[in-house]
Amino acid sequence: MAVIVLKDKCRGCKKCIKVCPFEAIDMQGKVAVINEKCTACGQCIEACPFDAIENTSTGKEAADLSAYKDVWVFAEHRDGKLMGVTLELLGEGSRLAKELGVSVCAVVPGIDVAVMQDELFAYGAEKIIAIEDPLLEPFTTDAYTKVISDAVNEFKPEIVLFGATHIGRDLAPRIAARLNTGLTADCTKLEIDIENRRLLQTRPAFGGNLMATIVCPKTRPQMSTVRPGVMDKLEKDPGRKGEVVKYKTNLVAADVRTKVLEVVKSAKEHASLLDADIICSGGRGLGSTEGFKLIEQLADAVGGTVGASRAAVDNGWIDHSQQVGQTGTTVKPKVYIACGISGAIQHLAGMQTSDIIIAINKDPEAPIFEVADYGIVGDLYKVIPELISQWSQVA
Ligand code: FAD
Ligand code: SF4
Ligand code: SF4
Repeated sequence: MAVIVLKDKCRGCKKCIKVCPFEAIDMQGKVAVINEKCTACGQCIEACPFDAIENTSTGKEAADLSAYKDVWVFAEHRDGKLMGVTLELLGEGSRLAKELGVSVCAVVPGIDVAVMQDELFAYGAEKIIAIEDPLLEPFTTDAYTKVISDAVNEFKPEIVLFGATHIGRDLAPRIAARLNTGLTADCTKLEIDIENRRLLQTRPAFGGNLMATIVCPKTRPQMSTVRPGVMDKLEKDPGRKGEVVKYKTNLVAADVRTKVLEVVKSAKEHASLLDADIICSGGRGLGSTEGFKLIEQLADAVGGTVGASRAAVDNGWIDHSQQVGQTGTTVKPKVYIACGISGAIQHLAGMQTSDIIIAINKDPEAPIFEVADYGIVGDLYKVIPELISQWSQVA
């Protein structure tokens, strides 16, 4: 793809320079010249009042889009166990694939993919692209980037979805760059514009104050990372079966530039918030780090996991891995108990789809009560001990 200025048409008005986001246009005398920073985004073409800029590509790229089909889900796993977000993405991927009239496929790099096969089918995968190679264990960004990019080039999926986990956020941009396509990070909603077969990728922008919908009109595949806990899994059906396609890699040791010496698991796994049925979260209203002892007692009593607002994390009362919200973890437990949390939009972004929300706050006007199913107005230091005591009588 190359964008050029037609010298005989250029009048030197400099409008193209103003719109170029990449400082890719210089003036040489009275004529605009495009330099090597150009990404062929096309903004200058539309801005030029004299039709003096052209994209010299043949249009092959547009024609090639039709060669892409199927929705792929990157099947992230640890120790042979699939991550919850993979199952959620299979649910969402199935919905998108149905609208597009294509199949949903799980792409699984690893050393023993067969152990995950039944679960992938049970949660909606119609096809599995199994990529087995000894160099794929343990995970390295280099190895996974190469094999997934190669597989995409061979099979040409039109959409590829990743969980917005640590691995997904690391891997997806590398693959997108290698495939020279777009990536929308941290999506919370996906829809299809069926007329153009475009994926409408919605994510929070400007500190969560508005939702932006992003499309990738000119290249394929369309790639997104999606927050864990946002999409719905399909009902598990062990009777579902599908096709397994074995993809042979040409990975060599020299492709992997990093060496994993040791894997150290954090004492408090981030995933525990994602998997919890009940979350008891504390906010600034706790007043100090000591307050979290009370939250822990509540969590112990009800069999829950401790979460927190960012204010509590910023105060150093609890580790960031427990933060719920826009810049923390998005959770969807059966019960979410918010203690001394006001209900700022960035906190709500991470928990408002919980099945039941219980809020304890001394301020009856606190916004958390607008999303709460049950609200208790009062001092949490009086309410929580009473809740623990009541719970122990019924449990
Ligand atoms: P406050 O808003 O100070 O609320 C404390 C509440 O405790 C009050 O409602 C008060 O009435 C109540 N209270 C006080 N004492 C008691 C008591 N004894 N008993 C009962 N109630 C009591 N926040 C997040 O949580 N997660 C995020 O991921 C996140 N990301 C952000 C990203 C950006 C870009 C920005 C700008 C902000 C983000 N925030 C996030 C911060 C967010 O805007 C709020 O500042 C934060 O959520 C407030 O935390 P809080 O509710 O604990 O504190
Ligand atoms: Fe030339 Fe068009 Fe750029 Fe104006 S906008 S300087 S006419 S190329
Ligand atoms: Fe700049 Fe985009 Fe025009 Fe290239 S195509 S010169 S990057 S505005």
